[in-house]
Amino acid sequence: MLGSGLLQGLAVTAKNLAGSFHDPARYVTTEYPEQRTKLPENYRNFPFLVHDDPADPNGTLRCVACQICEKECPPQCIYIVMERDEKGKALRRPKVFDLDISVCISCQICVEVCPFDAIKMDQEYEIATRNRFGGLLLHREDLSKSNAYYHQIHPTEAAGVDAALAEQKAKQAAAKAAKAAPAPKAAATTATPATAATAQDSAISPAPAAPPPASAPDTPANPAPANPPPDA
Ligand code: SF4
Ligand code: SF4
Repeated sequence: MLGSGLLQGLAVTAKNLAGSFHDPARYVTTEYPEQRTKLPENYRNFPFLVHDDPADPNGTLRCVACQICEKECPPQCIYIVMERDEKGKALRRPKVFDLDISVCISCQICVEVCPFDAIKMDQEYEIATRNRFGGLLLHREDLSKSNAYYHQIHPTEAAGVDAALAEQKAKQAAAKAAKAAPAPKAAATTATPATAATAQDSAISPAPAAPPPASAPDTPANPAPANPPPDA
């Protein structure tokens, strides 16, 4: 029937209008910025750096400035400088970590290649600025966010990362404890008489004869010269 689609649409609108007075699920409009829609957990835009202690964000950054992400970033929008002490020794933390989000393509490759779970994808989207260049170049302090924030935006992923890091830490502690444990006494000091005698015997007895050389392939006793002299 002509106009039935229109009537169906109006019915849905009327149902939502009436329902919205008692059922929040029927609210179809979010009054931004007073209200925010909760983003799905796997939404991502630009990277940030994770630190473990908000009291000391720079001292507890997970990043060790290995520069793997810098090398792998397709548009080359990461710039890292390792911090060094006065003797030039690397301190395994970034002195400079800059990320130009005007160039970043949100591919997440930096996250995938980081061996230390130090860089993750953010959900912060209110980043509009009139300063096209400096305003979109984020520095270490801008990028550094707590592990609690990471849990807040990606709870499932963050729990998995925490479990993996805890397991890795436990393995390292066990390996360290095994290394620090006293080594068993040297075999020579605990050798039994029989073992000692066997060792002495082997020292006195002559070395076994060398095996005969492998038989050479059959060759004539006087092989013909490669270039025989011309006839006299
Ligand atoms: S974020 Fe990860 S890959 Fe990049 S420099 Fe830091 S530790 Fe290395
Ligand atoms: S998300 Fe992709 S483009 Fe952006 S910094 Fe990471 S590797 Fe580079």
